[in-house]
Amino acid sequence: MNRRNYAKELENRIEEFGKRKETPRLLLHACCAPCSSYCLEYLRQFFDVTVFFFNPNITEEAEYRKRVIEEKRLIDEYNAQVESNRFDGMHSDERARKIEIIEGDYDPGQFYEAVSGYEDCKEGGERCRKCFELRLSETARVARRNGFEYMTTTLTISPLKNADVLNEVGEACAQKEGIVFLPSDFKKKNGYKRSIELAYMFGLYRQDFCGCSFSKAQRELEKGLS
Ligand code: SF4
Repeated sequence: MNRRNYAKELENRIEEFGKRKETPRLLLHACCAPCSSYCLEYLRQFFDVTVFFFNPNITEEAEYRKRVIEEKRLIDEYNAQVESNRFDGMHSDERARKIEIIEGDYDPGQFYEAVSGYEDCKEGGERCRKCFELRLSETARVARRNGFEYMTTTLTISPLKNADVLNEVGEACAQKEGIVFLPSDFKKKNGYKRSIELAYMFGLYRQDFCGCSFSKAQRELEKGLS
């Protein structure tokens, strides 16, 4: 079976947009600021991007607040660059636009309900698929309600997440709402490496676990803390 090259597919789509006069509107589901850093740097060159921060999987409220504050701070940094026309050189592009943000509802109960019966799965297993379905189906609904043409997610930048599963779930959720899921594998083409550089450059808070209480417990076990 031929494996799909999502990074190449995204490039091909972008090439098609180049022929259009208007800038396409994209709703980007974002999990956290470090993962968003490279995705935004790249996507804002081609899209009118609105970030959708919807992550009820971050089961500790203090952790959630920390991540949403960092996401907003990152967007402010990028928007300040647009305002002052001060780009960092490496990925500079005059077409970069201001980025908007929509914060979704925060209710960890939604997450626990979505993964019910899968709590004991290891990270990367069926529990994560349910978690992706929860977050991407809401992204697709918000995209449709607000007239976005495209959606995608920053989650594919993580080397710990399966790009096949994410693209499959994203495409199914988008199709249901009549919008288009942009194929992505942001970790490719040095995307993950660049996200680490940008996180360092902006001094972003980088958590060492995915988000839910189960992933936190797993990480503590690995670190020998429990
Ligand atoms: S490990 Fe991450 S992706 Fe998997 S269920 Fe927990 S928060 Fe969701």
